[in-house]
Amino acid sequence: MKLPQVIIIGRPNVGKSTLWNRLVGKKLALVDDQPGVTRDRRFGEAHLLGLDFTIVDTAGWEDEDENTLPGRMRQQTEAALVGADVALFVIDARAGLTPLDEEIARHLRQCDVPIVLVANKAEGKTGDHGIYEAFSLGLGDPVPLSAEHGQGMADLFEALLPHLNERQLEMDAEAAIAAELDDEEEYDPKAILKLAIVGRPNAGKSTLINRFLQEDRLLTGPEAGITRDSIAIDWNWHDSASGEDRPVRLIDTAGMRKKALVVDKLEKLAVADARHAIDFAEVVVLLLDATRGLEHQDLKIASMVLEEGRALMIAINKWDVAEDASGLFNGIRKALDDGLSQVKGLPLLAVSARTGKGLDDLIRAAFELRDAWSRRVPTAALNRWFDDALAKNPPPAPGGRRIKLRYITQAKTRPPGFVLFGTRLDELPASYQRYLVNGLRRELGFDAVPVRLMLRSPK
Ligand code: GDP
Ligand code: GDP
Repeated sequence: MKLPQVIIIGRPNVGKSTLWNRLVGKKLALVDDQPGVTRDRRFGEAHLLGLDFTIVDTAGWEDEDENTLPGRMRQQTEAALVGADVALFVIDARAGLTPLDEEIARHLRQCDVPIVLVANKAEGKTGDHGIYEAFSLGLGDPVPLSAEHGQGMADLFEALLPHLNERQLEMDAEAAIAAELDDEEEYDPKAILKLAIVGRPNAGKSTLINRFLQEDRLLTGPEAGITRDSIAIDWNWHDSASGEDRPVRLIDTAGMRKKALVVDKLEKLAVADARHAIDFAEVVVLLLDATRGLEHQDLKIASMVLEEGRALMIAINKWDVAEDASGLFNGIRKALDDGLSQVKGLPLLAVSARTGKGLDDLIRAAFELRDAWSRRVPTAALNRWFDDALAKNPPPAPGGRRIKLRYITQAKTRPPGFVLFGTRLDELPASYQRYLVNGLRRELGFDAVPVRLMLRSPK
């Protein structure tokens, strides 16, 4: 479980690293009198009188000229603030306030993160005037502290407690929601693959299925009737690459009745047939006819399969009689990418049910696609990606208040479903949701499978 995050902010030399060390309890950070020793953001696990949280030290405000704050630095710290639950703004009580402190304070006042003001180096009496000055920042009562001598830690605890308690309650709610969603069985990659072949009449579905069954003598026999309209055939596919037999259940909807109906009626039924098939399938192969290309109805079937959350792949059949093969292939690739913006790079294969070309590749790709569709990303990797995505492109701030995105979890597989937790999610624009879903797909290997994002606000 993710801990609440507390970020330390302040100009150079106020004692940020010393405080970080004090809270983490290890002498890891380099402490130095030279400004700017801490170069990167550092994360540590902090323990303060029974409170556990992640503590982040930033180098965001450090610069050659201590009195100005270039935009670049501001951006960097802003990115760090996005993932933070509380900011500890540290000033040096002995030195008193500087223009840079005031500039940082001005900036922090505009952020949506709760701020605890810390007046460090307050041991003895020498810090008193700095403490009084700190009230003028308008960020609440300063907490006098000596990071070096470990004084004032109980006051720091008290200042942090309400913020972290609130956060803890939220996180408990998030965990409860996630647990509720996460009750599915382990995926077994060796389990029978439920594969449906759909497509317009005459695309070659029956020929394809017959070809599969003829070539393999391991046919276990056709079993009519998952429904009135469909037929399921259990069969073993021999994987020549691994030498293994892998079980496949072929679901053929149109096969049984097509001979009895006239073609124009069948056109209309193709979509309905596909709908039946996908109820039973994990992976759906949309079969196209190379002599006709990709037609409007094909795209309609394809979007329906994706909307239903099934893994979709496209096979161009009758490749043996295709004209301008590479032009055709590239044209279909482009039409798919343009027409189905919800996925990128769907598996696209050229096959011939007549000659057998590409059929092994087709089944192999179907197994691989099912693996991707069933995959679970570890929460740690997911949140690493998430923090990075937010830092690169922070969520918008409608009406000047930033939408807070806290945490993401994969609540579901087959198809992959993610739950995003945060506050004011009802105001999160669709474009930002698309940014996240596209990133998820690209960075975490879900390119060709439909991905769902659900939004949850605790309380
Ligand atoms: P940073 O640049 O903000 O990370 O500051 P450092 O943690 O590197 O501290 C800068 C200097 O202030 C070091 O010489 C520390 O020893 C000193 N320092 C840190 N905390 C205290 C404190 O509580 N009291 C006093 N007197 N000096 C401190
Ligand atoms: P379905 O309506 O989708 O089941 O299509 P069929 O399997 O009945 O095939 C329709 C027509 O296309 C038949 O005449 C098949 O012989 C022909 N066909 C199927 N696959 C191929 C192929 O790979 N190459 C060629 N040239 N013809 C094919």
